Amino acid sequence: MQKRIFIAYTGGTIGMRRTPQGYVPESGLDRLLAHMIPPDLAEDMPDYVLHECSHLIDSANLHPRDWYRIADLIASHYHDYDGFVVLHGTDTMAYTASGLSFALPGLTKPVIVTGSQIPLREMRNDARNNLLTALLLAAKDPIPEVCLYFNGRLMRGNRATKLKGEALDAFDSPNYPLLAKVGINIEINRPAILDRTGTEVFQILQPADGQVAVLKVFPGLSAKLLAKVLEPPLRGLILESYGIGAVPIESPGFLATLAAATERGVTIVAISQCIESRVDLRKYAVGTALARTGVLGGFDLTTEAAYAKLNHLLSLNIPTEEVGRNMQRSWCGEFSVPDEPFGRARSLY
Ligand code: ASP
Repeated sequence: MQKRIFIAYTGGTIGMRRTPQGYVPESGLDRLLAHMIPPDLAEDMPDYVLHECSHLIDSANLHPRDWYRIADLIASHYHDYDGFVVLHGTDTMAYTASGLSFALPGLTKPVIVTGSQIPLREMRNDARNNLLTALLLAAKDPIPEVCLYFNGRLMRGNRATKLKGEALDAFDSPNYPLLAKVGINIEINRPAILDRTGTEVFQILQPADGQVAVLKVFPGLSAKLLAKVLEPPLRGLILESYGIGAVPIESPGFLATLAAATERGVTIVAISQCIESRVDLRKYAVGTALARTGVLGGFDLTTEAAYAKLNHLLSLNIPTEEVGRNMQRSWCGEFSVPDEPFGRARSLY
């Protein structure tokens, strides 16, 4: 039987139109898609329904609340479709793919987030290939996870990151293997795909404004600025540290400021500002000193996944210790378990 796919069109370059002010989101993608897949060629394609969101956005305008609007859309159509495609702008696509992975743990159907660098309306574009391949991947079983597909690469959504602003191979998955490579053939990397045994859990939450921030450590970062960032209402900080978790411990007041914040219940997670790296706070004195302040190591989480996960956990309104415990526990393969770099991840749900 032909598979049925639900496409959620949220905005992004893929559906944009050129105006004197530059590209703007535009409705009517369903007509373009119908034109691309005429009935006589539709035989090899899954059946699809395209849902256009009422407010199409440039994804630069995205808020964490939007992850849950999209998750809600998927959850409310979950039992009627075999797979889901989310059409999205590239700028915050990796944040949304991460957010969806935590909002929809235990998925047993594929959710493929995609978009393009050139609109579908342009003669020469990457939109057509990305969209059609995402549709085919969403109809392929079993890929029971939130993925990001772009330019021949299928990635775990919470491992992907946008590396290039002006190239068609804009995304990569620096710390985890690709889930599939798409060339003439679609080569699925089965061992890399999540091992699902649990049940679907939909956690549609209401994230508050300004509860999590991301701060990149840089030479000269003062305790004063750090303290300003850590002021209430902030409840969580993703600290992009150097290398494998180094910070300027000799900067006056730096460690004391971090310790005071964790003591009053702010969850601080150190990740690496290197694209390919993993935080290990045991190796250097600057790392062990950081760990003593109560800052948690974020392993090889991307910034996007770390931010989305901490937002999610804080929105669950669970005790701070539980936020910390869950932050260091892989929910759906978002980080590699230390000493088992590419072991097959198991879903917690
Ligand atoms: N600014 C656009 C967006 O993220 C870029 C894109 O889609 O490629 O919506």
